[in-house]
Amino acid sequence: RFFQYTNKGGTLLAPQNFSDYESIKQQYKPEIPEYFNFARDVLDKWTAVEKEGKRPTNPAFWWVNDNGDEVRWSFEELGVLSRKVANVLFEVCGLQKGDRVILILPRIPEWWLVNMACMRTGTILIPGTSQLTAKDLLHRLQMSKAKCIITDDVLAPAVDSIESECQFLKSKLLVAEDHKKGWLSFKELIKYASADHSCVNTKHQDLMSAFFTSGTTGSPKMTEHSHSSHGIGLTVTGRYWLDLTSSDILWNTSDTGWAKSAWSSVLAPWIQGACVFVHHMPRFDARTVLDSLSRYPITTVCSAPTAYRMLVQHDLTSCKFKSLQHCVSAGEPINPEVMGKWKTQTGLDIYEGYGQTETVLVCGTFKGMQIKPGSMGKPSPDYNVQIIDENCNILPPGEEGDIAIKVKPKKPFCLFTGYADDPEKTDSTIRGSFYITGDRGFVDEDGYFWFVGRADDVINSAGYRIGPFEVESALTEHPAVVESAAVSSPDPIRGEVVKAFVVLAPDYLSQDPEKLITELQDHVKKVTAPYKYPRKMEFVQQLPKTVSGKIKRNELRKKEWEKI
Ligand code: ATP
Ligand code: MG
Repeated sequence: RFFQYTNKGGTLLAPQNFSDYESIKQQYKPEIPEYFNFARDVLDKWTAVEKEGKRPTNPAFWWVNDNGDEVRWSFEELGVLSRKVANVLFEVCGLQKGDRVILILPRIPEWWLVNMACMRTGTILIPGTSQLTAKDLLHRLQMSKAKCIITDDVLAPAVDSIESECQFLKSKLLVAEDHKKGWLSFKELIKYASADHSCVNTKHQDLMSAFFTSGTTGSPKMTEHSHSSHGIGLTVTGRYWLDLTSSDILWNTSDTGWAKSAWSSVLAPWIQGACVFVHHMPRFDARTVLDSLSRYPITTVCSAPTAYRMLVQHDLTSCKFKSLQHCVSAGEPINPEVMGKWKTQTGLDIYEGYGQTETVLVCGTFKGMQIKPGSMGKPSPDYNVQIIDENCNILPPGEEGDIAIKVKPKKPFCLFTGYADDPEKTDSTIRGSFYITGDRGFVDEDGYFWFVGRADDVINSAGYRIGPFEVESALTEHPAVVESAAVSSPDPIRGEVVKAFVVLAPDYLSQDPEKLITELQDHVKKVTAPYKYPRKMEFVQQLPKTVSGKIKRNELRKKEWEKI
């Protein structure tokens, strides 16, 4: 059912089956070959398996959009097309191994082809979200010194407007039906490109990609990963958290600019030979998601808590999901209430995963493990995860501290290489023998990790430390609350108090706000320790979020503190 890499550069061996956490930990021992290239050592191997008739007849890639257009590619077709793109990058754009390529496309099939072509050419892929402005593009082009940009006709004018300030940029590839002056036509070029290309023989530690972090707490950081850190490091994600096999069809709803798309839209599913399903929606639409889950034989769905919060606002009992068996959530903590509603209405659990652009999966509730709603599960077998204090002492169960990963004496192979061209910032993540995630949490007696909040988001009120997630989860248990953000707000007596920004469910919009605030405050006092209740509350139509759907608490907090 599973595959394990070997030192000889990717001969695939039959694997063992795991059902519980301890056996995963004992038996999962990834081997890191000296040379490793995901396109050659995984994708092309799956092409061979497919040709031998040993893979189910699922496509490797299945794309649909709102207009009923559909693309289905086998691993072989992906191989042929991506080799053509590799030849365009190499021959027409003149790119060499180690050159950086910025890729900004919505969820269209070409995005996947460029991903694979960059692997084949050894060029470093830097994806970005389509929501970038000309100013963001300039910053990213200058910072990355990218030699090539690949985008569509929506963003091309913005690139043209700043191009004169980007002296490293040599070629611009346009993915569009029409031609544009100064741009190479992607579609035209691949029509005539050769499908013969020999994959560059990359060393496992050669850089493969540089994703920008979500920018939840500040400027997004350009985070470099190697062929092995992502290409092999996402095995745990695909195998144990997503629980994929080659007969599965996975839909990950995340934006193409976020590292989670590398995890769940490219590498983790293809490591397992599973099918990557994509419904290209101009924007997230709960009805369309539910409709697709009902219409297509999707077995596994990976989404962010924000999406699940929207989905449970609908009546799910009337949905007949065709093949859905496994649901996962990552990116933010998922409220136990949302997990409960999803389970009651669909019969399915939500398995949580915790990680960062800098890491791969750090903790997860793996299939087969008992779920503790509100917990992030247990550490990935790739990492030694601990809760530590400011002096690097490992804290006992129940005590809140920094979530940290042991990096000495040996740095885990699946941790990022560094922030691009910024060794100082990279070094600042290390304290003693640990990489500091910047998140706070605690571990319980059973070894499950619990997220308290980003270090900056934890509220310190009259001597009590309050994690925003606990307050938000308590609020979400009230039917009036769709979602909320709890932040610190100044208070003359307590120094700071909890303020909750709340998005109300439609049925509650006409209620007397003062009464509703008191009702919600009483509710929080009842369902959690009373000192955590939000002393201040404001109803809002929406919360500020990153493109990847994360609540920007720092924006709300800043506004509160600017008022004084
Ligand atoms: P930036 O570093 O630019 O501020 P970011 O940290 O949001 O942005 P990402 O790397 O996309 O950028 O997100 C990683 C962070 O997301 C984690 O450090 C953590 O704060 C949060 N996160 C991810 N998954 C979970 C989860 N399951 N539970 C709680 N928090 C999570
Ligand atoms: Mg971060």
